[in-house]
Amino acid sequence: MPEHKELEENISTLQQLKKHATIPPQVERQLEQVIQIHPMRISPYYLSLIDWNDPNDPIRKMALPSIEELNVDGVYDTSGEAENTKMPGLQHKYNETALILATNRCAVYCRHCFRKRLVGLPTDEILKRFEEAVAYVAKHEEINNVLISGGDPLVLKNEIIERFLEALSSIKHIQFVRIGSRVPVTLPRRLFDQGILAIFRKYSKSERRLYIVTHFNHPREITPQSIKAINNLIKSGVLLCNQTVLLRGVNDDPETLAKLMNRLASIGVTPYYVFQCRPVKRVKHHFQVPICEGVRIVEKAKENCSGISKRFKYIMAHRTGKIEILGILNNEVYFKYHQAKDRKNLGMMFKRPVNEQAGWLDDFDLISELA
Ligand code: SF4
Repeated sequence: MPEHKELEENISTLQQLKKHATIPPQVERQLEQVIQIHPMRISPYYLSLIDWNDPNDPIRKMALPSIEELNVDGVYDTSGEAENTKMPGLQHKYNETALILATNRCAVYCRHCFRKRLVGLPTDEILKRFEEAVAYVAKHEEINNVLISGGDPLVLKNEIIERFLEALSSIKHIQFVRIGSRVPVTLPRRLFDQGILAIFRKYSKSERRLYIVTHFNHPREITPQSIKAINNLIKSGVLLCNQTVLLRGVNDDPETLAKLMNRLASIGVTPYYVFQCRPVKRVKHHFQVPICEGVRIVEKAKENCSGISKRFKYIMAHRTGKIEILGILNNEVYFKYHQAKDRKNLGMMFKRPVNEQAGWLDDFDLISELA
């Protein structure tokens, strides 16, 4: 059952989708295959953002299943989430951060999702024993912040969200909590609810702020409704930053990316990361942009961004850590460990010879350390 009543109105079958899009019979059979493996869910609001006259519409690309998903090049767990799982639904990869996977539900199942292996599906990777997770965090004093993610935690009922925030706020060494959510983008009406806003006001105090990490990928996702949702969060004392994924056919041009970052800055959301699309099975093939091309897009986009709107880092969330993709110089790509699973790598820079096809670190030739 959906956690939130608005989710009941979602489009989740091809029959429902056919009221909006023309699907040839041959394609319909293939799409049926796709959504049996990775369910479809689209909120009526997000569906309304699609320009049906444009077959290459970016919102459509992110929301509608495509036969490209039959291509299985890639892997499901690209950043070693399984090996960092300490108990179902709790990961501890970086010393100071615990990650809680609170649900496998979302308002929209994004076709580019890197947790495709679990969204909308029954899985053992979702939090089952809340008290044990809280006890783990309480016992590990090196953890100074918790990220609640999923799925999308903001589709959960208010009482459950409050239970998370209440329990975590009682742990002295937790300096702040983050919630990762695409609800401001896909179901902004959820954040017109005074109940959830009151909870945020209660747990985002001057001494210990609550962060919401949004996931805007395209300037057309910034609408009067999403601006209102963001404004409600800001008025509730929540701090906002945004993670974008660089996606083929969605935001892989400098103008779109610059417009997105400038708009985010103007509505009060700090651009935080631009993620290199991970080599996820049924995603990589049609969404990933090669890294060298990505560097050029990002650098060109920055030419049209203010200092505030280009505070983001271009990042690869690799098995070994979060690696900043710094740029290209003399036919070599430069990288730096921004976060590292093995702490001795923190801050380490390295380079690889340019490879125009490489979409991930492992696609380049052997590492050569700088210092
Ligand atoms: S909202 Fe987030 S977790 Fe859910 S499908 Fe989209 S990207 Fe994945």
